[in-house]
Amino acid sequence: MTPQYVLRTEGLCRQFGTFKANSDVSIALPHGARHALIGPNGAGKTTLINMLTGVLPPSAGQVFLREENITSLPQSVRVKRGLTRTFQINTLFWGLTVLESVLLAICERKGVATAWWRPLSQRTEEIEEAMTLLRQLHLERDAQRITRSLPYGRQRLVEIALALATKPSVLLLDEPAAGIPAGESREIFEVLAALPSDVSILFIEHDMDIVFRFAQRITVLVGGKVLTDGTPAEIASDPRVKEVYLGESEHV
Ligand code: ADP
Ligand code: MG
Repeated sequence: MTPQYVLRTEGLCRQFGTFKANSDVSIALPHGARHALIGPNGAGKTTLINMLTGVLPPSAGQVFLREENITSLPQSVRVKRGLTRTFQINTLFWGLTVLESVLLAICERKGVATAWWRPLSQRTEEIEEAMTLLRQLHLERDAQRITRSLPYGRQRLVEIALALATKPSVLLLDEPAAGIPAGESREIFEVLAALPSDVSILFIEHDMDIVFRFAQRITVLVGGKVLTDGTPAEIASDPRVKEVYLGESEHV
């Protein structure tokens, strides 16, 4: 039997000293989810993502990937099990072409990254997989460009490509379009929206137009607690949510 949820938390808490950044947070993502996490600055959104990825141990509570309790698994093991977040392109990839970067990530997943007896250019199977990924992400025409030379928005797409190269069942995105001009951030979400439903997505985003267009479900976090959880229509008409955002003009 397929488990009902691909990712689930039970009563997650995280304290920094006496300060409670997350209190009793329980969320559940069904397969194929497009789930947004919203809330004012300091609500605890990034802290929650950090507990899901294993960057921060929770003070209490549990994280389940499908049926498995992964609360104490290290980050790298979670990625192997299919729970991946985007990371900023590191210096290793900075001077490589987009295709080379994605190829390396695919080889790393397959455990052939250090087998340099065969040059990357001969890895036809991996090259095919990389090109399919680049097509999905509208990066095909940039395949031979050096990652460093790309506009910021397209570098973000490369980061998403590197995350997808791990073949995640759940992709976590913490403000993937932050600091990118509006036109380019639209493209990022169009690309994400077109991904196959075997990749479930949990994303933090402060642009409400994008959230309401792209999310199937929304969790509102305030002061480290879940204020409410619902469909975009339910969240849009919830007076408590409006109240939270009053005075935060950049969010409305
Ligand atoms: P959000 O992503 O919703 O803006 P964060 O999860 O980054 O919020 O932060 C939630 C609260 O926890 C903030 O008040 C922040 O200052 C605090 N916080 C986050 N990380 C740490 C840390 N490592 N040490 C102390 N306080 C932290
Ligand atoms: Mg944050």
